[in-house]
Amino acid sequence: MALLLYLTGPYKRLEELLPDMPDELEVASITYHTPAKILTNFLKFLKIFETIKHPELQDNKEKNLFSNSKGNKNNALADITVMTNSEEADPFDAATARVKHNVIDTELESINSFLCAPCKCTLCCTGPSKNAVQDFFEIPLSSEEATLFKLPVHDSDESKKTDAYAENSLKINGKPFYSLPPALYHWKNGWSMILTRESSCPALSSQGACTIYSSRPRVCRKPQVFAAILEHQQADTYTFKNSLVAVWDCPYVRELKQLITDYAAHNETDIIFRENKS
Ligand code: SF4
Ligand code: SF4
Repeated sequence: MALLLYLTGPYKRLEELLPDMPDELEVASITYHTPAKILTNFLKFLKIFETIKHPELQDNKEKNLFSNSKGNKNNALADITVMTNSEEADPFDAATARVKHNVIDTELESINSFLCAPCKCTLCCTGPSKNAVQDFFEIPLSSEEATLFKLPVHDSDESKKTDAYAENSLKINGKPFYSLPPALYHWKNGWSMILTRESSCPALSSQGACTIYSSRPRVCRKPQVFAAILEHQQADTYTFKNSLVAVWDCPYVRELKQLITDYAAHNETDIIFRENKS
């Protein structure tokens, strides 16, 4: 709604919209108190539309950033490529999808602070149990986050040609990677920590607390509901999926199923409930 107001109103900069926001806003049965304050937290994601509406606002540095590989200066998503139906998405649709993904991702992060930590749930910090169907549990990491953990590292040409779920599993010294103790892997789609059966994250203390809580990876800051508006394929390529994925193992996902379904409906996304561990 804020985007619609900005694009159709007399505004050049997004901040100019804030004084025009009402004290209270009701949209689809949800009441937002002080919407201008809420919107301030998300303006950084919407900035991309300032240069779409007013291309003259781009400085030289931004012009380079906003040029895609095909030299289209209007593509405000030059740093990632968004695909829909095997074709590169329209720049405006790609920018809208990216904003939606970032906003939902940020909202879910703040929701998490009300759930896992106060209840000391550590299901996400431990590998599958002895008799579980799954062999391992994967925690995706950025390259910086991977340095937080003191674990064996597998970063080879072989690992970078495959991923954790490939049909022909990566073998280390002739053994499938998931039969080894927990380790860090550099896959073709990025880094991850693999927690194998009956193992736990090295940052989890014997009292069940995260010892790196303030610097824990981004994925640990979310409940088991993930924004999947854009789904990472490889390198800088994403596909438009327009979904939320909720992992059924999480006790909060089961308890809050209806709320999560309503949240997806309000955001006009599909909702996928799936098992992760068993
Ligand atoms: S970093 Fe902390 S929150 Fe994340 S899996 Fe390890 S112990 Fe759990
Ligand atoms: S299972 Fe749910 S409540 Fe438990 S740590 Fe994971 S996200 Fe938090």
